[in-house]
Amino acid sequence: MSTIETVVDLIYLLAAALFVMGLHLMNSPATARKGSQFSVVGMVLAICATLAYLIDQGGGSATGWAVLAVGFVVGSLIGLRSADKVKMTDIPQLVSIFNAVGGGAAALVALTDFVHDKNLHLATIAPTPAVATALDVLIGAVTFTGSIIAAGKLQGLISGSPIILPGSKIINSLLTIAGLGSAAFLFTGAANTNVLIILLVAALLFGVTLVLPIGGADMPVVISLLNAFTGTAVAMAGFVINSSALIIAGALVGASGTILTKLMADAMNRSIPNIMIGGFGQGDAAAAGAVTSSGNIKQVSADDAAIQLAYANKVIFVPGYGLAAAQAQRELKDLAQLLEDRNIEVIFAIHPVAGRMPGHMNVLLAEVDVPYPQLYEMEAANLEFPTADVALVIGANDVINPAARRPGNAISGMPILDVDKAKNVIVIKRSMGQGYAGIDNELYLDEKTSMFFADGKKGLAQISSAVRELVTD
Ligand code: NDP
Repeated sequence: MSTIETVVDLIYLLAAALFVMGLHLMNSPATARKGSQFSVVGMVLAICATLAYLIDQGGGSATGWAVLAVGFVVGSLIGLRSADKVKMTDIPQLVSIFNAVGGGAAALVALTDFVHDKNLHLATIAPTPAVATALDVLIGAVTFTGSIIAAGKLQGLISGSPIILPGSKIINSLLTIAGLGSAAFLFTGAANTNVLIILLVAALLFGVTLVLPIGGADMPVVISLLNAFTGTAVAMAGFVINSSALIIAGALVGASGTILTKLMADAMNRSIPNIMIGGFGQGDAAAAGAVTSSGNIKQVSADDAAIQLAYANKVIFVPGYGLAAAQAQRELKDLAQLLEDRNIEVIFAIHPVAGRMPGHMNVLLAEVDVPYPQLYEMEAANLEFPTADVALVIGANDVINPAARRPGNAISGMPILDVDKAKNVIVIKRSMGQGYAGIDNELYLDEKTSMFFADGKKGLAQISSAVRELVTD
């Protein structure tokens, strides 16, 4: 091993250490920014080391370097622009697109290697070169198309509800047989291009048929699962081209994505195989208890809501996707402060899948410096609702829908925040519109519930000024 190779390997090791430290720092909102910076430094080091290695090897044609440079510039510009412009509520779509790009790139690495070098690199790391190549193509291609479908669903370009194709069970079985059969054939080391093409096509189609039937409240689990797939595909690409940096980075993404998938599935009370088979996420809107009549709805004004809040002893804020859509976190924090100034106990109940990305509510509330101990995870919050005078719901719907306690609908079995156990409930949202899972919410008809129809930001500001007037009266 040459000196430069040793140095490059040491830099890869340092980059890996920075990735691990970065992930660790992301455990807490207080250190998450630093964690992100550590990871950026690790990635820049890994890229520089790889370039140094390429130069040392005298590798690459002028065309190769030009393609690399153009790819680097275009990719960086797209990345920078999307990070800058994308709205917080659109992050899940962006993550899905990044997953697609990561999975697709990993699969291309294996395909290119297969076409040009046929088994040149691997003997030192993988049991056989073909295992890594086949797994890379399989997982990378499934991730590519699956993530594109997921992004389409999240963006509303494809129906967010489960889409069941006619004969889907037979199609899936055939694709599974074709994919696993051709992968097994390649495992033997037979470098057969036709079999590799069958594997690629079956995996691309399987990505589509895997994600189409999943929908509604199960989408968070799918996004994190595809994230885990991306990491695994990248690690396989690392085996294919003998790059320890790719193996480590891919394994970290794969492992953390798998842990997140398990946490999200547990939070939804779902099993991962069941979600993938597509049994959940379907359901009958009627079984959810359709709220078609608006006759029983009790509406309140900002003044009425302010009186209920200002004379309470304990208030629980329940933020949901509508808080993010309205960007009303600052107004929510201001209202909390006003109530606390009146010696009212205020806590925030956080459902694990509230919003549109894992930790969405935590991020929004951290942005406006809501103290961490005031954020109650679902189990802890549910112990508090029976002693709360008012639960103030801001743009949350599915995560508080009592229909989840009954079988036969899209959110059956999902643990919810027991908002209906509070003495009074005030809901701020713009209409009787449904949430992401597309089912009605009978909580809005409950006799203890008052609806304040308003945009989250404006509604909270109005309530706060009404509370202020009460104080000055
Ligand atoms: P929901 O999507 O169930 O409901 C949000 C509600 O917010 C809507 O009913 C809407 O009602 C209201 N709303 C929208 N805009 C505004 C606004 N400007 N002001 C006030 N209200 C507004 O949100 P939840 O947080 O309760 O549940 C999240 C759902 O998203 C779950 O089903 C979850 O599975 C799913 N999901 C979660 C992901 C995650 O990682 N967390 C990722 C993908 C999906 P109206 O139109 O009447 O105002």
